[in-house]
Amino acid sequence: IPVDAFDLVIFGGTGDLARRKILPGLFRRFLSGQMTEDSRIIGAARSDMDADGFRQLVRDAIAEFGGAESKEAEAIDKFAARLDYVSIDAKGEGGWSDLAGKVRDGVVKAFYFSVAPSLFGDLAERLHLHHIADAESRIVVEKPFGRDLESARALNQSLAEHFQESQIYRIDHYLGKETVQNLMAIRFGNVLFEPLWNNHYVDHIQITVAETVGVGGRGSYYDKAGAMRDMVQNHLMQLLCLIAMEPPNKFEADEVRTEKLKVIRALQPVDHHHIVRGQYDKDGDEPSYREDAENPRSFTESFVAMKVGIDNWRWAGVPFYMRTGKKLKSRASEIAVVFKDLGHSIFEGDEARHRNILAIRLQPNEGIDLQVTIKEPGPGGMRLIDVPLDMTFSEALQLEADEAPDAYERLIMDVIRGNQTLFMRGDEVEAAWAWTDPIINGWEARNDVPKLYDQGSAGPDDALMLMHRDGRRWRDIK
Ligand code: NAD
Repeated sequence: IPVDAFDLVIFGGTGDLARRKILPGLFRRFLSGQMTEDSRIIGAARSDMDADGFRQLVRDAIAEFGGAESKEAEAIDKFAARLDYVSIDAKGEGGWSDLAGKVRDGVVKAFYFSVAPSLFGDLAERLHLHHIADAESRIVVEKPFGRDLESARALNQSLAEHFQESQIYRIDHYLGKETVQNLMAIRFGNVLFEPLWNNHYVDHIQITVAETVGVGGRGSYYDKAGAMRDMVQNHLMQLLCLIAMEPPNKFEADEVRTEKLKVIRALQPVDHHHIVRGQYDKDGDEPSYREDAENPRSFTESFVAMKVGIDNWRWAGVPFYMRTGKKLKSRASEIAVVFKDLGHSIFEGDEARHRNILAIRLQPNEGIDLQVTIKEPGPGGMRLIDVPLDMTFSEALQLEADEAPDAYERLIMDVIRGNQTLFMRGDEVEAAWAWTDPIINGWEARNDVPKLYDQGSAGPDDALMLMHRDGRRWRDIK
C-alpha cells in the first residue's frame, strides 16, 4: 500500500549508514510502489557536491548494497530523478536557506538524523529557526542514544526544545525485524501461548545475539562503548521487553511502549556475580580485541553474558539469561523460551528430559520453531523424541529470501505513516540507561578485567558456568 507523498531529508546522506541501508532500502520501497513518484529524498551533508553528484553516489550505493534490485536500470533512473542534495553544516549557517527552499509544504516532512548524536541538538534547533520543520514534521534519530542516563537525558531535552515526543522516532532496527514483530503476533494472536507465558510454565528464557565479526574498522569507536552500551542497553533490552511485557490493551504506540517501560522498571539490579564480560583473544594471524581497538590496555568488553530477574507477578523466579558478543562461533541470534519439565512421565523407560522450547530466530533464516515431543516413528515401541515444528517464514509463506523488506525500510515507512509503535520512547531509553549505568559504573570502580575468550568459541568459560551453576545450559549456536 503506497504511503503519502513525502519529502525525506537525510542529514548525513553521504555517510556509511545512508549508503548501506537507508538509500538502497528506500529504492526497494520505490520499486514496490510504496514510495510514490511524488515523493522526494534530499541528501544533506557536509560534503561539497551537487544533486548530480549525490545521484551518482546513490547509484553506486545501490550497485554495491542493493542486491538483485541493482539490475533495475530503468527504475534506478526514475528513482534518481526523485533525489536532490544540499551541502549543509549542522553547526553553522551554510546551506540552511537552500534547504528551506527545497522542502515542500503539503507533503509529509521527515528528517533523518544519520549523523553523530553530538549534532542532534544543532539540527533540531536549525530546523526550527529556519522554519523548515513544522508541528507535523517527524525526526528520526539513530543510535547511540547517549552513553549513560545523563547524556541520554541531555539528548532528549535538546530534541524536546523544538519537537514533541510524538514527532520523534528513535530507531532500534531490531524492532523492524520481521521475526521480532512476529513475536508479538505469536504471543497475542494465538490462544496457545499466552496461558503458558508465566512462571508456572516457563523455566527460563535465553536471549543470544552472536556475531562472527570483530570490531575491525570501527575499533576506536567501539572501544568507548563496549557490548553493554552497543548491544545490551538497546537491542537486547528491546527483545527482553517484547518477550516479557504484559499484553497491551491495543497494538498502538503508547500502549505498547508503556508496557515495555514497565518491564524495564521491574528489572532487578544485576549482581556482579551474575554477569560475565569477555574480550576476544589473538588467534594466529587474527588480531585480538585489543589490537583491533588499537588500545593495548583496553578493559572494554566485546562479549557480555548475564542473568537477570524481573520483579513482577508474572516472572517472579524466572531467570532471563542474555549474551552477546563478537568473533563468536556463528552469526546467530535467537530468543528461546524454555518451558518447565513435565512433572511426571507415563512412559516406561523414558528417562530423558523432554522440554518444549519455543525458539524465535532472528538470524539466520528468520523464523520460529517449537520443540515438541513425539513418538519415534517405527516399530521400536513407545520411544519419545524431540522434534522442531519449524515455521521458517520464507518457506511457510513462500517468500523469496530478499522479498521481505529489511528492518530499515519497514521502519522508514512507519515514520511516513506516523506510526511510532516500533520506535523507542524517550522515557524507555532513559529507564534502560538507569538500569545499565550501575553495572558499567561497578566495572569501572572495580577495574574489572574482561575474561579472554577464543575466537570462534561461544565466549568465555565463565559464561557457560553462569548457567551450569543453575543446572541449565546455553543452547548451541550453530
Ligand atoms: P559516517 O561518518 O559514515 O557519515 C557521517 C555523515 O554525517 C556524512 O554524510 C557527513 O557528511 C555528515 N556530517 C558530519 N558532520 C556534519 C556536519 N557538521 N554537518 C552536516 N553533516 C555532517 O557515519 P555513519 O556510519 O553513516 O553513521 C551515522 C549515524 O548513524 C551515527 O550516529 C552512527 O552512530 C549511527 N549508526 C551507524 C551505523 C552504521 O552501520 N554505519 C549503524 C547504526 C547507527
